[in-house]
Amino acid sequence: MVDTNFNYQRIMAIVAHPDDVDFLMAASAAKWSSEGREINYVLCTSGDTGTSNPEMSTDKLASIREREQRAAADIVGVKEVVFLRYPDNVLQNTISLRKDIVRQIRRLKPEVVVCGNPLTYFSPWGLNHPDHRASAAAALEAVFPSARDYHSFPDLIREGFPPHNVQEVLIEAYSDEEDFIVDVSETFELKISALKMHESQMVKDPARLRQFEEQLRKEYSRIGSKIGVKYAEPFKRVSIF
Ligand SMILES: [Zn+2]
Repeated sequence: MVDTNFNYQRIMAIVAHPDDVDFLMAASAAKWSSEGREINYVLCTSGDTGTSNPEMSTDKLASIREREQRAAADIVGVKEVVFLRYPDNVLQNTISLRKDIVRQIRRLKPEVVVCGNPLTYFSPWGLNHPDHRASAAAALEAVFPSARDYHSFPDLIREGFPPHNVQEVLIEAYSDEEDFIVDVSETFELKISALKMHESQMVKDPARLRQFEEQLRKEYSRIGSKIGVKYAEPFKRVSIF
């Protein structure tokens, strides 16, 4: 049974790289921010190895990609983008990463966290990136139990970040496994615009770009047809008790 009810005010996305969040939920972010809800992004890395150009330094690429992500976030009305700046491509679900995520959850107090699926090895586009699994696992383990429990990370209490209960997690959904759908008929084009901000990652061939856009449009329209709307973005919903 697919649900469309959404009553939360504060949403946080936690992902591995610049552009992940735009693939995952930019259309929903645009819709929710237009409804007056608060959206924040936490990125574990700044995508500093995302190039095949040996002349491009990782520092320079990180700053380009952070700029691109901030521009994309502005398009969809995001309040804050936090970069944890772990090295790209070698992200691990460590206690240090979990703690850095817990700090942001306790500071920004989201009711809902949106993240990838830590079990996804194969996506419709091929092999899933290992950083995507690591960031998703760290995000879920930060939500439960660490952000919630007083005695996890006592130094965060001393820093001024008391426990916070996230109420729900929305996880990336592929292949009709969604059970929560957001009607994004009004904001689908903003998702496309946000994705286009990641210029350093885009294929340069305009024909391939158009093809990608059309595929996305077709898929979102297929999901939209399940609830009788033009375009929709899919998630798996998990309640935290
Ligand atoms: Zn990625």
